[in-house]
Amino acid sequence: MESTLTARDRVGVQDFVLLENYTSEAAFIENLRRRFGEKLIYTYIGSVLVSVNPYKDLEIYSKAHMERYRGVSFYEISPHIYAVSDNTYRAMRTERRDQCILISGESGAGKTEASKKILQYYATTCPVTDHMSTIRDRLLQSNPVLEAFGNAKTLRNDNSSRFGKYMDVQFDFRGAPIGGHILNYLLEKSRVVHQNHGERNFHIFYQLLEGGEQDQLSKLGLERNAQKYHYLVKGCCPRVSSINDKSDWKTVRKALTVIGFHEEEDLLNIIASVLHLGNTQFGEGEDGETQITTEPQLTYLSKLLGVDGPALREALTHKKLTAKGEEVSPLSFEQAVAARDALAKAVYGRAFTWLVAKINQSLAFKVSHTSIMIGSSSVIGLLDIYGFEVFQHNSFEQFCINYCNEKLQQLFIKLTLKSEQEEYEAEGITWEPVKYFDNKIICDLVEEKHKGFISILDEECLRPGEPSDISFLEKLEDTLGGHAHFVTHKLANGKTRKAVGREEFRLIHYAGEVNYTVNGELANQSVNSTAVICQSDNQILSQCFNREEVTTQKRPETAATQFKNSLAKLIEILMSKEPSYVRCIKPNDAKQSGRFDEALVRHQVKYLGLMENLRVRRAGFAYRRRYEAFLQRYKSLCPGTWPNWQGRLADGVATLVQHLGYKPEEYKLGKTKIFIRFPKTLFTTEDALEAR
Ligand code: ADP
Ligand code: MG
Repeated sequence: MESTLTARDRVGVQDFVLLENYTSEAAFIENLRRRFGEKLIYTYIGSVLVSVNPYKDLEIYSKAHMERYRGVSFYEISPHIYAVSDNTYRAMRTERRDQCILISGESGAGKTEASKKILQYYATTCPVTDHMSTIRDRLLQSNPVLEAFGNAKTLRNDNSSRFGKYMDVQFDFRGAPIGGHILNYLLEKSRVVHQNHGERNFHIFYQLLEGGEQDQLSKLGLERNAQKYHYLVKGCCPRVSSINDKSDWKTVRKALTVIGFHEEEDLLNIIASVLHLGNTQFGEGEDGETQITTEPQLTYLSKLLGVDGPALREALTHKKLTAKGEEVSPLSFEQAVAARDALAKAVYGRAFTWLVAKINQSLAFKVSHTSIMIGSSSVIGLLDIYGFEVFQHNSFEQFCINYCNEKLQQLFIKLTLKSEQEEYEAEGITWEPVKYFDNKIICDLVEEKHKGFISILDEECLRPGEPSDISFLEKLEDTLGGHAHFVTHKLANGKTRKAVGREEFRLIHYAGEVNYTVNGELANQSVNSTAVICQSDNQILSQCFNREEVTTQKRPETAATQFKNSLAKLIEILMSKEPSYVRCIKPNDAKQSGRFDEALVRHQVKYLGLMENLRVRRAGFAYRRRYEAFLQRYKSLCPGTWPNWQGRLADGVATLVQHLGYKPEEYKLGKTKIFIRFPKTLFTTEDALEAR
């Protein structure tokens, strides 16, 4: 054990269920702080792992550490991400049940690092044969590729994932990794054309410019200078001290080779085309119409995107009035800029999705390997997804992220309560119902058919004419006004609520209140593709944009509905698996080691729902342990059980606790485990052990 339970004054308790005052948020945070001060970044809430980002490399991830956690139970050894990895793996092997590990936390809290550590644990400790090592390597190498295209430097994290990711790792009957599959969610496409101060575009652009060979860049019409590209300098920080774009480029190229990637030229063309789009400028022609003033850019674009020059020119300066495009009208300057940016976002976004599909092909379990496949395979899923977000201004993006977190919380509550209840029943102990806040009401508010938020949004976006923010807000008000979790600036008495702006609505989430602005969001909802790209002879783009999409008369789905549907699928996948949880916390906003900002941590403890989590876990009994383990640890405290108990384990434990003076209300004996109601009982016993 990391610390016997008696060292708890210095290093805190390694499981929050052992906190005396388990409903106190202050006690919870104090425990985290103490442990963090001792470089103990991991703590449990029962089987949930809470992790605090140390912002420095701790010597706890070596191969020797991995070995230490193999086949060992949670309480026998200090909390660790490897313990979760190993327990999950063993549960999959012994129970033959698919597992998943859900990692949540705000940006920079350590989610992606945690998921990488889990993957490394499996890559290192699982059995592998020769051709399986290919799959193992591809699983590991998919990371640098996805990070190059999907991660960026933000104010919160120098390597921030700008998409949500769910990855399945498939294992064969011997427990060797044999395949994988990735689902991606909501890439932050707005970053392609705009970055806030101090932030960057996606890594890949800078990597190509820094690391690409000279003749490669010449062919793409690029200069080795990020400053030259409008899309790369909005945040005024093309260079980041913690990032080496040049060597990262090499890593990515190597990773692409391992994955078995052959479309490099087409991919580079797409990256370069986005940069040329960014440098495409507009002006006013003699006839007063908007026209492109940067001819060289247009030539490169036409070549790189593999589309006809005149068609591209038309697409950037004119709008089709009929579906087939027989009639067009000129765009204003602002509209042309918007069309250009929309094209850049669409091209990049689709290429990213294509890349994920490509990686999936290379990770797919190949039927030709079935000769060695006897018996069935099982899966461990890893979910690395954005946590609850509240900013000064919250847009549609935060809305989606927070809605996603509501859904995951709902899943968490359902599954945690269910597994608690099942354990009690299996052990023959009466289940005492736990009171908790069920956030289903908020999920319904968002997604209910016909009267939920997304339905109203769809209606407003898809009705003829330009969608209007104001009429959307009014409709929301009409349908959802009076709902306990929905608030606008209007008060029931006709007065105005100051805390909510006129262009805002507020949702009262399980984790707190958030005001969302609907300014201009509706126009972004259309996911109609840009018709001109459908003619592309770039291999990747022609697969990403298909003609059908443009020519069918079917109503396109809004981005919100697409997200809702993909989320529903995700929840279904997770529901079919046995979950484990990793909750990540960021100790400070300065990305500094050793600094623990209490207010910031308190905020996250709240948004991660950790107090509620602990309450549910502690509702009945604080602590439970299998009879063998309990006897083994404490048998020396009772002459009747020392040195060895010969009879039934349950009788041995009964003899032991009677001798220790446990009162009947303090514990219960189940079929295989002892349940202890209060931590104090256990601490007294631990102290007795220490005193011997
Ligand atoms: P998130 O995915 O939650 O946004 P990351 O996993 O990218 O956050 O972590 C942000 C940064 O914090 C990493 O780049 C790394 O520098 C640091 N970090 C995170 N977890 C650890 C860890 N366990 N040990 C050391 N540093 C870490
Ligand atoms: Mg991340």
